[in-house]
Amino acid sequence: MRIVFMGPPGAGKGTQAKIICSGLGIPQISTGEILRNAMDKGTELGREAKSFVESGALVPDSVVIGIVKERIQEPDCEKGYLLDGFPRTLEQADALKKMTGELGKPLDVALNLAVPQDELVQRLLERARKENRPDDTEPVIKSRLQTYEEQTLPLVDYYRKEGILKEVNGLGSLEEITGRIKEALGI
Ligand code: ADP
Repeated sequence: MRIVFMGPPGAGKGTQAKIICSGLGIPQISTGEILRNAMDKGTELGREAKSFVESGALVPDSVVIGIVKERIQEPDCEKGYLLDGFPRTLEQADALKKMTGELGKPLDVALNLAVPQDELVQRLLERARKENRPDDTEPVIKSRLQTYEEQTLPLVDYYRKEGILKEVNGLGSLEEITGRIKEALGI
């Protein structure tokens, strides 16, 4: 199954993505994680991404599109994959549609994990205390939420029009939400 997993920062996407991917035996492709790893290692990609990630802005489309295009053609993606944090702009969504079309392996489902804004800030500040991520400070959190609203939220409509959107309520216990996601995926 080829899945796009959407939702605002702090919705719990990453945690749920791990559970779903190990259940289905497919790789979780997190563009945020790929970028953070590159930043930790100080590679060229990491140096290019740093200022964007640290300010809560999006890394340029061409950079992340290139990453995903290569990654989904790796052998472990043959059975499917889950994209976590990509696409985040309409340009990325269009590029993804084009590349999956060219490969003859279109997306099966776009899941949107919905959580209200005020709940998100709380969760992100909590995570900041626990995980020590470079972009989990209050001003950067606000900026990431705004970036999400402006650039990524329109993708919900995009995938609704594509006819592959499934919406999941992201409020509840971890187990409840996993259950809802599995139901939405029919697994
Ligand atoms: P969150 O879901 O909490 O926003 P991510 O780990 O998905 O965190 O992303 C962290 C940061 O990495 C983003 O704020 C952005 O700067 C960058 N990033 C990740 N994915 C993308 C993408 N698809 N396009 C542009 N920038 C991205």
